[in-house]
Amino acid sequence: MKRMSDKKGRCVFISGMGVGSGYPVRVETMLKVPLYNLEEVVSKVRELEREGCELLRVAFPSLELKEQLQCLIKSTNIPIMADIHFDPNLALSAIEAGCPSVRINPGNMKNKKALREIVSAAKERGVVIRIGANGGSLASSFYERAQGDQAKALVLAVEEQIKLMWDEGFEDLIISAKATSINATLKANILLKQRYPYPLHIGITEAGPGVHGVTKSSVGIALMLSQGIGDTIRVSLTDSSVKEIKVGQEILQALGIRRFRADLVSCPTCGRKRIDVQTLVKAIEPVLDKFPKDWTIAVMGCEVNGPKEASSANLGVAGTLSGVVFFQHGKIVGKCSVEDIETYVKTLIKHL
Ligand code: SF4
Repeated sequence: MKRMSDKKGRCVFISGMGVGSGYPVRVETMLKVPLYNLEEVVSKVRELEREGCELLRVAFPSLELKEQLQCLIKSTNIPIMADIHFDPNLALSAIEAGCPSVRINPGNMKNKKALREIVSAAKERGVVIRIGANGGSLASSFYERAQGDQAKALVLAVEEQIKLMWDEGFEDLIISAKATSINATLKANILLKQRYPYPLHIGITEAGPGVHGVTKSSVGIALMLSQGIGDTIRVSLTDSSVKEIKVGQEILQALGIRRFRADLVSCPTCGRKRIDVQTLVKAIEPVLDKFPKDWTIAVMGCEVNGPKEASSANLGVAGTLSGVVFFQHGKIVGKCSVEDIETYVKTLIKHL
């Protein structure tokens, strides 16, 4: 599935990275440790660099953290977005610290004079502003005006600040409207997409832990992407930032929007299985990056159906009574014992 083309869409640049029309859907996350502990922060950032994080939002709750924010920005190539709530001075301080983007929450920052100051500082330094509305922090007045409709209330909150930015002639914007409800988030984003050309940041907020969080995020984000909505995604999990990046990449890869690594297909197993597919998958997953990105690697439980079922795979392995067979596009090309699989795969990777 490809994104719907959108000739009218705009794009912005954060530290030189394009977000929006003409650029790939970006995968971002949020730093989950406080800026106070710079050593831990830098170590987390290194992990995220390795995982391919493309934009990192960082809570900036105190003016005292300006120096730490500065150090973080200098320590990584990942573009940083300072996450600001309540106090406009924090946004100004983050901009002064060299932050290339700031997120402000229209639910808790309404002082028009202060917002104008933020816009003016952003203009001067080429900073991108994300107007990020969240269902949980909207003022009751928006709900009243929207007659209790959360999606419409979110849109009203975003719109109010877009108009203020327009008054200041500022359009380097990313907009977002998130709720814990998939339906409300989808509806709000459809309305925003219809009305505004700005890049949309999407996600389902507070999606939760484990299977529940991954499922909820994936369903919500995929529904929006399938309608051409979304320029940067964040999977919001009660889990590590690295997991959020991995799931975000998997969503884009599963939808055929971006390709990050070779695809892995494996059978669910049944009574015909000859090998422990789960263990084999665990052994192959870490070396997936070693195969060409456009390849599909298959792990199948038996040679009776495996090679045929996974005939599109560039390389497959299927269990037999005495070990495994390897196949390429359904054709058997080699065999070995279970104990030798790792060596066989390593040799194969070497030859690639
Ligand atoms: Fe069952 Fe074999 Fe199909 Fe796996 S490949 S599901 S083991 S028939």
